[in-house]
Amino acid sequence: MTLSIYEFDQVYWAAKFKELGFSDSHVSTFTSKYHKLSCSELSSDFPDYGSQFPRKLHSYLSDQYHDQSSLKIDSLHESSDGSVKFIFETTDGCQIESVLMPERRRTSLCLSSQVGCKRACSFCYTGKMGLKRNLSTAEIVDQYRMVSHWMVQNAEWQKSNKLQLDALVRMRKVNNIVFMGMGEPLDNYDNLSKALNILISPHGFAFPKSKISVSTAGHLEGIKRLTKDFPNLPIALSLHAASVSLRNKIMPINKTWSLIDVLAELRGLQNSGRLKRLLIQYTLIEGVNDGDEEIQGLVQLLSDIDCKLNLIPMNEVGFSRWKSPQVKRIEAIQTMVLEAGIRCMVRYSKAQDIGGACGQLNK
Ligand code: SF4
Repeated sequence: MTLSIYEFDQVYWAAKFKELGFSDSHVSTFTSKYHKLSCSELSSDFPDYGSQFPRKLHSYLSDQYHDQSSLKIDSLHESSDGSVKFIFETTDGCQIESVLMPERRRTSLCLSSQVGCKRACSFCYTGKMGLKRNLSTAEIVDQYRMVSHWMVQNAEWQKSNKLQLDALVRMRKVNNIVFMGMGEPLDNYDNLSKALNILISPHGFAFPKSKISVSTAGHLEGIKRLTKDFPNLPIALSLHAASVSLRNKIMPINKTWSLIDVLAELRGLQNSGRLKRLLIQYTLIEGVNDGDEEIQGLVQLLSDIDCKLNLIPMNEVGFSRWKSPQVKRIEAIQTMVLEAGIRCMVRYSKAQDIGGACGQLNK
């Protein structure tokens, strides 16, 4: 059985080519070409390198590896706000989701890192599934490849889009990648880090590192590894509660790594210059975490950390009776936070009508 070439990053190929007796220049020829090919055409055969490669090397590679996608599109759901939710099927019959979100000046793609999630946050539909398995590196990269390919092939999506898209988006490419889909990305660190290497490498997809964010529920060990391997990659921390007791209740990961320790680590990383952009996400749930005391605690927690706070009104999902506070209350909370000198925006999730918003992903 051949292996997907997207399962392996440049570190692997450098070692493999060395073992076969070929030079570094063959490695960059190899990875640059297969990554460029993949977004414009999804071939099912091994890429043809013609005279660029010695015949012996080409025949070894094509005997051992393949270029096929590990995913196929099961269905597509288009939202009235222009977002598109892709449901992909893996070769072993699992389903995962990615969401493409056009905004005025950019298009963001939200990727999944696991099938399900073991972290069981109370407000999250994915958490209800439990963890089925980690996604492989190829399955993570293939979400990006498949969506990029779909964008090139579906120009009508650009036209039918309700938004006034500017030139960047008309170039039909993904401008931002956010790991905020199904799963806790840092629970699948080994495969995630290889996928990041493939996406970021100048001999890979050359995707700007500053345009990729990894979201975490507060995986302290994973944050340490990520910031060591990828300094200054933007991080989004899903906070959702300011007091330890409430966070223990709604985000069980807090019993393993307390928000106090996680925020201390992030503060230290900022001070040492290894983390420049930090986004804090706080889902507002009426009667749960939107009271004055909890919000004052939030302000206190963030007072000495350089971050941007996104307040996200709760997306209502079938299994839960929790809902968003009224608009007046949301505005009052935003005012409290802004008056404390913390940068803060209210972000209404996109793709809510197709179950593609934060906390709604479940297959
Ligand atoms: S919010 Fe994130 S970490 Fe929590 S259960 Fe959902 S996917 Fe997992």
